[in-house]
Amino acid sequence: MDNNLFDSHCHLDFEVFDDDREEVVERAYAAGVRAIFIPGTRRDTPRIRQQRIASVELYYGVGLHPYFIDEHKLGDIDWVEQQLQQHSAYWVGEIGLDKTCSDWDKQCKLFVRQVELAVEHQRSLILHHRNSQNDLLHHLKPYLDDLPQHKGILHAFSGSYEQAQDWVSKGFKLGIGGTITYTRAKKTRAAVQAVPLDALVLETDAPDMPLRGHQGQRNEPCRVAEVISVLAELRGEAYQDVARQLWQTSRQLIPSPVTDDNATC
Ligand SMILES: [Zn+2]
Repeated sequence: MDNNLFDSHCHLDFEVFDDDREEVVERAYAAGVRAIFIPGTRRDTPRIRQQRIASVELYYGVGLHPYFIDEHKLGDIDWVEQQLQQHSAYWVGEIGLDKTCSDWDKQCKLFVRQVELAVEHQRSLILHHRNSQNDLLHHLKPYLDDLPQHKGILHAFSGSYEQAQDWVSKGFKLGIGGTITYTRAKKTRAAVQAVPLDALVLETDAPDMPLRGHQGQRNEPCRVAEVISVLAELRGEAYQDVARQLWQTSRQLIPSPVTDDNATC
């Protein structure tokens, strides 16, 4: 129980896992993973809907990701809303703002509408950022008091202690993944050492963001075990203590029991 791990950001529904999804989840289970969160990224995702694979619980999000900004239509917001109405356990994400993607105005419009849906349906957010942490905070500001108590996760946190604290003080958790395994990520490593443990959740972002030593390979959810080892070492805390807290924190973000969900799948 103490070593249960939650990969709070894994694109397990991507095509790259179509041939061996079961085996990937079995490997994750063997490494201690007992739950995986699968973000939605565009209309008609996530592409899989099972409640579990190989004894690992699966949780889902629905969202329009800035990577696919050219594909999204403003009307896709209605589809996001339908999904939230039909699936009481879905989180809102992966949504966000990305300076390397096109059509900033459309990104902002879609982002704000999806934040409004999260408020309306009281769901946690999964936030994507690239050179845009301040822009996200700017757009979130009017909604901070109305989001649910567990506001969500800033996915793939990297940055300074001050940036980390800025998110933590507003009630967000920081998604910690492969970045901290690279010794060159000095600022981010220093930040995750210093913030409260209950501000952190684990993630892989598989198939992306390979860990140090696995560059060029497809990332997999089993690697959260390596992330947590590095995190425990950086913080000078026991693996079990870190694992227990991060598991509890991730579970707090689940909006409602999954038992009443999936009826409409
Ligand atoms: Zn992602």
